[in-house]
Parts: sequence; structure tokens; C-alpha cells
Amino acid sequence: MPVIYRCKRCGYTFYVFSKVGLDFFGMPTPSEISNWYAGVCPKCGKPVEKPSARDVKIIPFPRRDRELLLRIKEGKVKWVSQLHDGDSLALARLRMGGLVDVYKGRIKLTYVGATIASLLARKVVRRVKACRGRA
Ligand SMILES: [Zn+2]
Repeated sequence: MPVIYRCKRCGYTFYVFSKVGLDFFGMPTPSEISNWYAGVCPKCGKPVEKPSARDVKIIPFPRRDRELLLRIKEGKVKWVSQLHDGDSLALARLRMGGLVDVYKGRIKLTYVGATIASLLARKVVRRVKACRGRA
């Protein structure tokens, strides 16, 4: 299940982190994330606040969603019309999670590179952990 940092006011996604197992080793802290954005939301300008416990929402990220995300990333699915039966719910969850966007029937990733890779590949996450461990 990924951890998604979003703006409280407009829902802008600051960062997505995929945890493996039960530890959050390697996950950036809210203040690190705030620093990356110079303390304000790039979309609506709201100052980034420290999240309280009631700001944390648990949203499941099922296997089906990961598989759809992978197909989108590999360019196998580019249009809503290419979706299989039952994928529309997965797409809706990916959109709610701020991972993909749909514009005029075209699906595009809101996240690129390492973030998506870490969501999809446990190997990548393990490598990140190994690097941190050595430092
Ligand atoms: Zn915002």
C-alpha cells in the first residue's frame, strides 16, 4: 500500500511512497516533503502543514490497481476505451490516489520515473533500502 502525501486544500499530490512490509524505512518525513516544495503547495499556494493523526487516511491499493498502473506505465493502455471489464474501478482508485489523470479519454501518468517504479517493483524499494543502510 503506498503512502500518498496530498495537499489538504486542493488535493495536489506531493509525493507517493510505496512501503513493503510493515516498516516505513526510507519514507520521507512531512517536513522533508515540505522542503522540496519550499513550504507551499505548487497548485493552490497553501502553506504545507504538519499532518495530524486525523489527516491520515488508509486507502487500499489492490493488486488489480498495480497491474493496471503497470500496463499504463508500459504504454499498453493509453485510452479509457482500451480498458478491460472491471478495470474502471481500478482506474477510479488510481485517479483518487493522484497517480493517473484522464483527459478526453486519454490516460496519462501523473507520476513518472522512480516514484512509479518504486510502486511497482519490490526490487527497486529493496535497493533504496540497501543504499540507505550503507550510508
Ligand atoms: Zn493545494
